[in-house]
Amino acid sequence: MISDKFSVSSKKRESYLDITSSINKIIRKHNLGEGVCMVFVPHATAAITINENYDPNILADFDSLLKKLVPRGAGYLHDRIDGNADSHLKAAVIGPSEFIPVSQGKLALGTWQSVLLCDFDGPRTREVVVRVF
Ligand code: ZN
Repeated sequence: MISDKFSVSSKKRESYLDITSSINKIIRKHNLGEGVCMVFVPHATAAITINENYDPNILADFDSLLKKLVPRGAGYLHDRIDGNADSHLKAAVIGPSEFIPVSQGKLALGTWQSVLLCDFDGPRTREVVVRVF
């Protein structure tokens, strides 16, 4: 098992950052062939998902969907603390991690799949934890 991590910085409040190549770099660095990769973000207002990043409209549509599902400032109790309840709720809906098969030294993703870090409370620097078993 290998354990590694890296950081990424978002530039807007809601950002969807493609971290696929950073993960593949870690897999190559440790010379791993076959296995399972766990990607985890240790933050309460960020999440990990897998989807298409070729057509940027997908991520714009994803952002619109989440804003409809969890509108900002809709009377949440946590907004009395630091005003980012929607960020926490979106992160909880999407989830903090994904498991991805590793084959021939890289993530065995589908043609149109990318690993995306979703930052719902940027701009911030986020840590990404990668373990490969
Ligand atoms: Zn908060």
